[in-house]
Amino acid sequence: MALEISNISKKFDDYVALHDINLTVGEHEFVCLLGPSGCGKTTLLRVIAGLLEADTGQLVFEGQDLSQTPARERNFGIVFQSYSLFPNMTVAQNIGYGLRIRNENKRIIDQRVSELLTLIKMSHLLDRFPWQLSGGQQQRVALARALAVDPRLILLDEPLSALDARVRNEMRQEIHDVQRRLGIPTIMVTHDQEEALMLADTIVCMNNGTIEQVGSPEDLYLRPLTRYVADFVGISNLLPTAWVQAHQPELMARRPAGEHDGLELCVRPEHIAVRSEANGPATVQSVTFLGNLCHVHIQWADRKFIVERRSRDGLHQGARVSLDIDPAQCCWVSC
Ligand code: ATP
Repeated sequence: MALEISNISKKFDDYVALHDINLTVGEHEFVCLLGPSGCGKTTLLRVIAGLLEADTGQLVFEGQDLSQTPARERNFGIVFQSYSLFPNMTVAQNIGYGLRIRNENKRIIDQRVSELLTLIKMSHLLDRFPWQLSGGQQQRVALARALAVDPRLILLDEPLSALDARVRNEMRQEIHDVQRRLGIPTIMVTHDQEEALMLADTIVCMNNGTIEQVGSPEDLYLRPLTRYVADFVGISNLLPTAWVQAHQPELMARRPAGEHDGLELCVRPEHIAVRSEANGPATVQSVTFLGNLCHVHIQWADRKFIVERRSRDGLHQGARVSLDIDPAQCCWVSC
């Protein structure tokens, strides 16, 4: 294990920002801290970076307790949401900054800066100043600057959130490729589930200062344990037990035994088939065309469903339909 986080808690006055966080990060692992605004992601990242002291708990990195190691001695590369480049320095000077303050010799600095410029595909822009760069280019420089000092761990705090959708997609791919190539353990904060699904080996879904579920992207999407995770990661149709019993009793077969009043059935939109049927129990409310697929909004008794299809295929507002839910693709989640 590269990083072991044990029992970390942090309060701001009476407000509990982190409650008893336990987590491990493997040698080459890419971990995403995912959750809505205010759930404690940045606070946890800052504790790991050494920029904020936890009230309780322990951080161990490569077998060494970090409690006495200040942020600057941890040798972690940090990239923040705002690019935070030095405005009066060129691209090359920004990237070489960390090496210069370590008094590395000029030849080594020049060589390292040149390697990193190649890595981020910006060799031709080495003499530009930050204000002469696009947002995506600035964020690439920030990443290269963090990598220049051969960090033992990379910490990324929403590095892509200021970029427009197309550039964000490109940058995601680049961060993914760079991290895979260098194999440095990485922790990234994001509230964007799509980003987490694409980049992470492991997603840590946080809720109100606690960890709700840790797992691979497939685990969180296909096997969420709680309603919160099912709702936050991807789109889900959540059906209360009483509804399932009344309308689709055959789906009750896989429900965990025992007293579970607080269980709901989670069904993803792509796991429901829609059939036109004159006396079907459900009604199409609208069909949204999304390019490569359509979302069909359907009312069935008192529940609204979202179903994903390749095309409209004759479905229109007001059409009567029946829905086939694949029992093997559903999972029960706690509320
Ligand atoms: P976002 O996605 O909006 O950045 P987040 O999940 O990263 O959210 P944090 O920044 O970790 O959330 O904040 C968690 C909670 O702690 C929030 O309610 C925030 O208001 C509070 N908080 C964070 N820093 C401080 C501080 N220095 N003083 C007081 N409260 C703070």
